[in-house]
Parts: sequence; C-alpha cells; structure tokens
Amino acid sequence: MTRWNETTIRELVTRLEAFRNRCRPTTLATVEHATRSPFHILVSCVISLRTKDEVTEAASKRLFALASSPEELAQLDEEEIARAIYPAGFYNTKARQLRQIAAILIDRFDGKVPALRDALLGLPGVGRKTANLVLGMGFQIPAICVDTHVHRISNRLGLVTTSNPVQTEQALMRLLPKDLWIPINDLLVTFGQNQCHPTSPRCSTCPIVDLCERHGVTRSR
Ligand code: SF4
Repeated sequence: MTRWNETTIRELVTRLEAFRNRCRPTTLATVEHATRSPFHILVSCVISLRTKDEVTEAASKRLFALASSPEELAQLDEEEIARAIYPAGFYNTKARQLRQIAAILIDRFDGKVPALRDALLGLPGVGRKTANLVLGMGFQIPAICVDTHVHRISNRLGLVTTSNPVQTEQALMRLLPKDLWIPINDLLVTFGQNQCHPTSPRCSTCPIVDLCERHGVTRSR
C-alpha cells in the first residue's frame, strides 16, 4: 500500500511526465501552448465536453479559423458555429452556448474572460471543471480541474477515496502541493487516454503499477 506523501506524490508526477512525453499532446495543452489565451481555452473546453479529444481538436481549429475573439464569435450565427464544431457531442447546444458566452463576455466583461470562478460559473455550459481549467491553464491561478480521468485514476491509485468529482477536488487540494494543482489534470488526462482506460486499464505495462493500489479495478490488460 502506497503511503502518499510529498515524496511519493512527486515520484508519481515525475513518472507521469515521462509518460506524457511519449504521447500525443492533449487538445487543451496544444491550445494553451499555441495561444496562451483564456478565451481559446474556454471555447475548446466547452467543445470538449462529452467529445473525443481528436474531434475537439479539429472542431476547435475550424471554429478558431472563423472566429478567434468574442467579438468575431458573436458575429457568427448558431448554424455556422454548429457546422464548424460538428461532430462534437451536443454541437447544437454548444453552438448556442458559445454564442451566448461571446455576447456575455462583450456585454459584461469588456470582451475578456473573467479570472473569477463565480463569474465563469455564470456562463452557459460552464461548470466547475471548465471554470477550474480556465483559471489554471488560462490565468495560472492554482485550481484542480477534476474530470472523469482525474476522478477515476485518483481513486484507483488510492490518492483519494471519493464518490464524486467535487469530493475528489477537495481531497486533492488537501493532498497535493499547490504547484501540482494545475498540471495534474493534463498528466492524468493523458494517462487516462493512453494507459489507465475506464473499462480495462493496461496494468501489465503500467509505469506506475508499483505505486497503484488498483482500487475498484476488476478487469485489466
Ligand atoms: S496499475 Fe492499472 S489501475 Fe493502476 S494506474 Fe496503472 S493502469 Fe491504472
């Protein structure tokens, strides 16, 4: 059983970083590196919900080619946005939300993405996961974005014992050094997409198997 303390956590992160270096970068990391723009990160994150990463990447590129600012996005009609982001999941709903977000940013926030969690949570289609991601990746404000990968893998590892993402976020905030709050999302998303899959994780080739308690894992490869 792993005793999670700063030493073992940093060992875990070192190995996850080495693993990530061998993988295709996630769409959101690509957008972050390419643009350093909270607006682009927010838009890609909205597109990414319930959507495969490769689809999010292509959809984001098509939309940003048409509109790379709230002002330009607000000029598009919903059908144009929907066509650009298709086949992202719920593309019609997201098109409506993205247009509303652009209008709200222009009307209330001087055309800028607010760097406040409550203000972000007031935007259509933006939940805690997206708000934290924008704070972290967009503004470098420490926040832990807990998506399905972070929640699942944190529990399997035994880092946390929780039943929902909000509990996981709170438990990870207590456990992780603050400098790891932002990077842990991309590390675990990459790991979840490529190794620690939801239904059948690849435990036989896992680079962190000696650290993992494999809680709840009943089937693996
Ligand atoms: S040992 Fe298996 S369950 Fe644990 S992190 Fe690796 S792939 Fe996931």
